[in-house]
Amino acid sequence: MSKIKLGIVGYGNLGKGAVEAIKQTDDLELVAVFTRRDPEDLTIDDPTVKKVHISNASDYKNEIDVMLLCGGSATDLPEQTPYFASMFNTVDSFDTHAKIPEFYESVNEAATKNNKTAIISVGWDPGLFSINRLMADAILPSGENYTFWGKGLSQGHSDAVRRVNGVKNGVQYTIPSESAIEKVRSGENPTLETAEKHNRVCYIVAEEGADKAAIEQEIKTMPNYFADYNTEVNFISEEELKRDHSKAPHGGFVIRGGNTGSGHKQIYEFSLKLDSNPEFTASVLVAYARAAYRLNNENQFGAKTVFDVAPGYISPRSAEELRRDFL
Ligand code: NAP
Repeated sequence: MSKIKLGIVGYGNLGKGAVEAIKQTDDLELVAVFTRRDPEDLTIDDPTVKKVHISNASDYKNEIDVMLLCGGSATDLPEQTPYFASMFNTVDSFDTHAKIPEFYESVNEAATKNNKTAIISVGWDPGLFSINRLMADAILPSGENYTFWGKGLSQGHSDAVRRVNGVKNGVQYTIPSESAIEKVRSGENPTLETAEKHNRVCYIVAEEGADKAAIEQEIKTMPNYFADYNTEVNFISEEELKRDHSKAPHGGFVIRGGNTGSGHKQIYEFSLKLDSNPEFTASVLVAYARAAYRLNNENQFGAKTVFDVAPGYISPRSAEELRRDFL
């Protein structure tokens, strides 16, 4: 059986994770990685994978079945997805939730016009969490959905602590509040503000001779980022930061508390605990590449989301095998 041929656009954390994820499959093959930088500067350990400047991507229209778009959501994907969806089937991880409707429209127009299939906002949130929010809501109409994120390293909040006077380096983890999760699991369906659902824990390397009490005070009172949260600040050495805090863990919970019949409590829960956020997200993108390829072969053109893709489309296994082993 011939393999589905893939390209990767953008070689950051997600792009590197995608290279690793494709290696674990038997039915997918990586043809080339496309970048805006000098392609020769990229380190890819498989010499058969081509390194190509993004401006030459159109030369690969007949060589690549699906492009995995691994650029950033803030500025890369709003430009890159419509552009690539006019030439290739695509999968991306666009995660600016508030802008998904307009993103969908622009990608749908480009893909539909060119008979391509573009699956947008794939990953875990949006992605697997979205599917679980939808399922729980459809099955338990009388109830409430809750999403908790973490334990996770937050890039934005880590950047914010690093800008505080006297801070040499630092990271911030968002941690779901155990007491809030327990309330939700009990079926109370409480009203919870974002700040009540999550705590913030910082690990800070201070500059030599810096006033640690002042650093702690400045972090804990920082508006928008920390002031409304229960925030813990820990001071550690540069070595400890490197040793204990250089991974990118993440995860979280989708929980719905619902009622059926005469008030029977039903709790629906889905959770993820990830050592590497980008490697897991990339693994989801890679699985959905099969769906983009198959949907396109069925002439299902335009932009799609995880809501539109039947689960069997992302599996390398046949429908017979899935019915026999997984149903
Ligand atoms: P990243 O490492 O910052 O990479 C983004 C882009 O920046 C790359 O595609 C790359 O493009 C460029 N880049 C990377 N390293 C560079 C360097 N050393 N110098 C110059 N440019 C560099 O971001 P990421 O961690 O891969 O995340 C990408 C997006 O994934 C995020 O914006 C987020 O929205 C999304 N995401 C989604 C989910 C989900 O569940 N849906 C989960 C996690 C992340 P070029 O190769 O073209 O230069």
